[in-house]
Amino acid sequence: MTISKPYLLFRLVPTMRCNRRCSYCFVPGEERASHSTMFDVHPPSEWVAAMQNFSQYAVEFYCWGGEPFLLDGTYETVKGWTGFDHVLGGNRLDTNMAFADKIAERCPTNKVKLNCSWHPQYDSLAEITRKVRLLAGLDMVGMLNFVASPYNLETLDSRYGMSIDDLVAHFDGIGVFVNVAADFAIVNGTDPTSYSDYKRLLLGYTCEEDWRQLRCEKTASLCDANAHFFTVHHNGDLTPCLSSTVCGSFFEGALTFPEATVCANDCPSIVAYPFRHDNPFPFRQHLLEYVRRNREHRVTKCSLTSPLA
Ligand code: SF4
Repeated sequence: MTISKPYLLFRLVPTMRCNRRCSYCFVPGEERASHSTMFDVHPPSEWVAAMQNFSQYAVEFYCWGGEPFLLDGTYETVKGWTGFDHVLGGNRLDTNMAFADKIAERCPTNKVKLNCSWHPQYDSLAEITRKVRLLAGLDMVGMLNFVASPYNLETLDSRYGMSIDDLVAHFDGIGVFVNVAADFAIVNGTDPTSYSDYKRLLLGYTCEEDWRQLRCEKTASLCDANAHFFTVHHNGDLTPCLSSTVCGSFFEGALTFPEATVCANDCPSIVAYPFRHDNPFPFRQHLLEYVRRNREHRVTKCSLTSPLA
């Protein structure tokens, strides 16, 4: 009889530094300029070795920032971690694609599924297509993210004569899903009635249940995050979701699981909300699952739950 190992998802921020300055970025400028990195205290070799402390688990990792691939240590760490049998496939790293060629060269692995952002301000359509093709050829692309900001939509139309549907079809042609993300400047902290047409547009690309989670329209829910989902800090401290109480150490292989909780916090991240009990989403390989259900949504355009209020 095969006994499956308990599942852990480690969330890391290699750095909040970013080489780009997109107008719609959700990270404040001062944080993007921060110089702190996960390799300041422990070098990549120590990060790689310490993953073996968790070999009794089935592990996924998720890196965001900032731009994780600004750091040489990220390539070495990704290469090392994905070489371990207990590290599963589907590990998500968010990238602005500036370093696509280096990723392909230094840490090619189909255990990584990149959340690739296209920022038309920096990459032409031809250039981002080349980069996505390169990484898709290595089975490393989870999805291409496109923020439906006024600048991006205008650029898509005036520079390339394309609609969002054209963009989706363009990348469908190479097997890559385009996520059409809401511009936070339009949807965050504003009255939803002020963007009802925009919402209708985006619901053509994103299913209603994901939309509700992304916009924090949910009430409190029992959540399994404390049993699986931990932030790894630069010194190796482990903390559960949205708590600063240290419950373990990456470098010592220690982990004490906090009690399951009912959480009333906003939970707008696709990596986090599958742990909640108020939606049917699997939490393993969350990015691939997000892509799968939203591909399906675009075909059926039907809701997973009741219609939006
Ligand atoms: S509901 Fe979301 S924010 Fe709250 S603990 Fe669970 S994953 Fe974290």
